[in-house]
Amino acid sequence: MGETKKKKTLTEKRKQIQLKGIPAAPGIAIAKVHIYGTEDIVPREHPVSDQEIPSEISRFREALKNTRKEILAIEKKISKEMGVEHGKIFSAHLLVLEDSVLVQEVIIRIKKKKKNIESIFAEVLNRYISVLSGARDEYLRDRISDITDVGKRILRNLLGAEERTLGELEDKSIVVAYDLSPSDTAMMHKGRVLGFVTDIGGRTSHTAIMAKSLEIPAVVGLESVTDVVKNGDQMIVDGIHGVVIVNPTRLLLEKYQEEKLRYERLEHELVELKTLPSETLDGKKFTVAGNIELPEDVASVISHGAEGIGLYRTEYFYMNRRDLPSEEEQFNAYRTVANRIKPNNVVVRTLDLGGDKFLSQLDVPKEMNPFLGWRAIRFCLARPAIFKTQLRAILRASVYGNLKLMYPMISGVGEFRQANTLLEEAKKELRSEGLPFNENIQVGAMIEVPSAAITSDILAKEADFFSIGTNDLIQYALAVDRVNEKIAYLYEPTHPAVLNLIRMVIENGHKEGIPVALCGEMAADVALTMILLGLGLDEFSTSPIAVPEVKNIIRSVNSFDMKKIAEEALGFTTGSEVRAFAKAKLKELVPKMMIDIE
Ligand code: PEP
Ligand code: MG
Repeated sequence: MGETKKKKTLTEKRKQIQLKGIPAAPGIAIAKVHIYGTEDIVPREHPVSDQEIPSEISRFREALKNTRKEILAIEKKISKEMGVEHGKIFSAHLLVLEDSVLVQEVIIRIKKKKKNIESIFAEVLNRYISVLSGARDEYLRDRISDITDVGKRILRNLLGAEERTLGELEDKSIVVAYDLSPSDTAMMHKGRVLGFVTDIGGRTSHTAIMAKSLEIPAVVGLESVTDVVKNGDQMIVDGIHGVVIVNPTRLLLEKYQEEKLRYERLEHELVELKTLPSETLDGKKFTVAGNIELPEDVASVISHGAEGIGLYRTEYFYMNRRDLPSEEEQFNAYRTVANRIKPNNVVVRTLDLGGDKFLSQLDVPKEMNPFLGWRAIRFCLARPAIFKTQLRAILRASVYGNLKLMYPMISGVGEFRQANTLLEEAKKELRSEGLPFNENIQVGAMIEVPSAAITSDILAKEADFFSIGTNDLIQYALAVDRVNEKIAYLYEPTHPAVLNLIRMVIENGHKEGIPVALCGEMAADVALTMILLGLGLDEFSTSPIAVPEVKNIIRSVNSFDMKKIAEEALGFTTGSEVRAFAKAKLKELVPKMMIDIE
C-alpha cells in the first residue's frame, strides 16, 4: 500500500499554474526553475564576557570594512559593464554602511546585552526593517531592499560565510525569488539565467530596470510565485505580457516554443525594419516614436527603430528619492536624451504627479478621487517653483537636440495659457542670466481630458501640437478607473465615444495645421492601428517594443483603404463590434503579422 502511494507521488504530474504579474523585461524564456535566496542567515546566539566585547566590536568594524570593499567592487563592475547610472544604485548601499545610528545602536546593545555581535546585529537589522515596513513614507519603505541587501552582506562577513551568488548558477535556469536585490541581478550570467520572476517589485524598481538593460526576460510583482513552485519545475516566462506558467501542458509548451521562435525572428527582422521609414504603400508618411520613463530607456528606443520620443514621462525622475531633482540634474538628463535622439524629436512631458503616481518627498495630501484631483498641470500651476525648475531645465537642454515641451492633463485653454505664462517667465530669467535655449521651442497640449478634446478647436489655435493621452482619455470619457481590475471589461478603446473624441481632436488639430500624436497604450494596440491611420493620426508613440509591429502595419497598407476602414469603424454601435471588425480587417490586409493579436 505504502509502495503504491509513494509511486503515485513520484509519477504525479504537477498541475499547470498560470500567474499574471508586471512585465519587467521583454522576451520569452522556457527552462527549469531555480529558487533563489529563500534561506535567511540566522546567526546563533551566545553570551560574551565583558573582556570579549572589544574584540566583538572590532570584528564588527572589520565586517563593515569588508562589506564596503565588496560593494565598491560591484559598483565598479556594474558601472563599467552597464553604465554609471546603474552603478549609482550601489551608492545607496554605501550610505547604509555609513549610517552611524545603526552602527552606534549595535555597539550600545552589545555592551548592554553581552551577546555575540552577529546576533546583536541581526536584532538591530530586523528592528530597522520592521520599522521601515510600517513607514508611511514611500521613500523609506523603498529603502528596505537596500538595507536587507547590505545587512545580509555584513552578517555573511561576520560569520565568514561564503557568498553564494547567481553568478555561480551552473545550469540554464529561470530564477524565482521573493525579491532580487540589484546586486543579485548584477551578478546574473545572461547565458545561464534565461529569465527571472519575483513576488514583489514594480516596473520601475531598480531590478526591473537592470533586467531590461541585461535583456533577460522578467516578470515581477507576481505576489505568490515562490509559494507555488519547486526547484526543477518547468516554467515559461512571458516578459512581453507579464505572464508566468508553471508546469505547462505539452500543448501550451509547444505554443510558447513557437512564440519564442517567432519573437526571436521578430528581433531579427527588426534590424531590417529599423532603418526603414513608417510609410504606407502609397507613400504617406507617419511617425512611430517611443515612450520613455528614464534616460536609460533611450537604448530600447534606438534598438527598436523608433523615430524619436513622443512621450518622456518625467515624473519617474522624481520618484524613489528624498529630495526634488535640481535644475542641473534635470538639465543633464534631458540634454543626454536630446543628444542621443537628435535629429529626431523628444517630447518632454512636464511633471504628471498624482492619480496613481505619488511622490513621497512632496507633501501631497491623500484625496478621495486622486484621478480627479490635484494632478499634473493643476499641481504644477499651484507649485510654480517646482514647475519653473523643470521648465528651465527643459529650456536649457533644448539647444542640444530637438526638444519639445508638453503639458499633461490640460482641461481647457485657460490652463494652457497659465502654464505658458510661467514658461515665458522661465525664458525671461534664462535670457537675463545669459543661458542659451531654443526661443522657438514647440509647446503642445496633451489631450486626455474630455473637456480638452471637446474644446480642441480652441486649443489648436494656441498649441503647437497635440498628443492624445488615451490612457486617461478613456477613463474620463467612460468613467472607468484605469487601475481598477473589477471594471476593466468596460475600459474600451474602441468605444464609439472614444473613437469620436479622437476623430474630433485630429480634425480640429488639422484645421489649424498642427500635427496630432497619440501616446497612450492604444498606440500599441495593433488591432486598432489601421483605424487610427484612417482617422489621420500623424504620430504614434508607444513603448519601444511595439514600434516594429506598428511600422510593419503602416508599411503593409495604403492610406485610401485605411480611410474607408476608419469610416466603417465609426459606423458601429458598440466597442466589441469595432474590435471584431478591426481584427478581421487586419488579418485580411496584413497577413504577415509578427505578433499574434488576441
Ligand atoms: C495617457 O494618459 O494616455 C498618457 C500617455 O499618460 P499617462 O499614462 O502617463 O497618464
Ligand atoms: Mg495621462
